[in-house]
Amino acid sequence: MSKIEREKQTVRKMIELYCRHHLHQETMTEEYQHLADYACQRLDHCRFGEKKTVCKRCPIHCYAPQEREAIRKVMRWTGPRMMIYAPKAAIIHTYYMLKR
Ligand code: SF4
Repeated sequence: MSKIEREKQTVRKMIELYCRHHLHQETMTEEYQHLADYACQRLDHCRFGEKKTVCKRCPIHCYAPQEREAIRKVMRWTGPRMMIYAPKAAIIHTYYMLKR
């Protein structure tokens, strides 16, 4: 699986987890579905392609301000919990975050 596809799966997983715990919904609300679609669309058009770093460390950060704030909120909460809910994705994400 490509790095972009893996990141798309991870970001969707993180948003789903956030929705489940904060909104007590098994499926994403329209607002968070939009955020997940937006994040995946940004990944599809990432100018760094397969050589990208994690978005958190990106020198450009291509998100619009509203989506950027929304994804930050999601990541702040889900980041530390990913090791419990999706350990494989968390390990891979941490590896790329530490890799320069
Ligand atoms: S934030 Fe940076 S790394 Fe992430 S998708 Fe946008 S350009 Fe690519």
